[in-house]
Amino acid sequence: MFYNRSFSMKILVHACCGPCLVAPARALAAEGHEILAYWYNPNVQPYRENRKRLAAFREAANRDGWPADVDDRYDVDFFLKEVAVRREGRCPRCYYERLSRAAARAAANGCDAFTTTLLISRHQDREALLEAGARAGAAAGVAFMGSDFRPLDGESHRLAREMGLYIQGYCGCIYSEEERYRKREDVDSSEVRSGG
Ligand code: SF4
Repeated sequence: MFYNRSFSMKILVHACCGPCLVAPARALAAEGHEILAYWYNPNVQPYRENRKRLAAFREAANRDGWPADVDDRYDVDFFLKEVAVRREGRCPRCYYERLSRAAARAAANGCDAFTTTLLISRHQDREALLEAGARAGAAAGVAFMGSDFRPLDGESHRLAREMGLYIQGYCGCIYSEEERYRKREDVDSSEVRSGG
């Protein structure tokens, strides 16, 4: 189910983190929509990283005056056994897990539609996100807005720095943490080898 209306709606905005919430929520509010910010990200590991990002989400919502609905479960056993069960192909399952909860909360809160700030990132698989959002929306009976937030990425992170929000260095799961920092190690060691 995709959103294609332009009148004012109540929209649940699933936020992957505080920094990515800022510009998309402001843009939707500027179009006249009512915002409900939503947190459900059991994919963010380890625990202290999850809590840092949750605190940044609360701070971003609070500073801009968005009501927030928080599901702060941190269940690493569930995530690794049921969602990221294999490293390969894990992201679509991770999207669906989060967006199906977001869709259910949108329905429970009487929202007209829901969306996700994951759509701001060029590192995420946009087609898989659209597919997961549409499937989750159809199951819950709420429209999914597949907005292209990517042009807002730079602005959102600039505003987040101004607001002093915590900005993370990797997507979320332990696989993504390893992939991010291994890449950096590889760059560092090739610079050492080449005398850089
Ligand atoms: S890389 Fe990101 S989107 Fe993919 S499974 Fe890990 S946390 Fe989820």
